[in-house]
Amino acid sequence: MTVVPRPVLDGDSLKYWEGLRNEELWIQRCNDCHQHIFYPRSICPDCFSEEITWVQSGGTGKIYSFTVVHHAFGPFKEQLPFVVAIVELDEGVRMMTRLKAGSKNPSVEQRVKVIFERLDEELTLPYFEPV
Ligand SMILES: [Zn+2]
Repeated sequence: MTVVPRPVLDGDSLKYWEGLRNEELWIQRCNDCHQHIFYPRSICPDCFSEEITWVQSGGTGKIYSFTVVHHAFGPFKEQLPFVVAIVELDEGVRMMTRLKAGSKNPSVEQRVKVIFERLDEELTLPYFEPV
């Protein structure tokens, strides 16, 4: 099995990782200014409120930007080529992610939806594929 660098599953992001294990994408929303927030944090980046709620994302959005990776080191080398993308969710937040292996000819503004890649008991990652 491929060993990839692992994220730290800490306090602010626990709900996010827990959601992914259940094949759900959870983001945050500020109770004061109502902005959605991603990545997980304890203070709203727009108004600095600490009144933050977790909400389940619909898991759909569009490609904001992407690149096709042709050179990589370590465990990622055997996955070449792959697409790293910034997806803008319909809730308005952007997340860095990967497109599903085999996603051909991605384009900016293309509609995508989340899929879940289970690596092991603890870690599931959100990837995206064209709708
Ligand atoms: Zn706010």
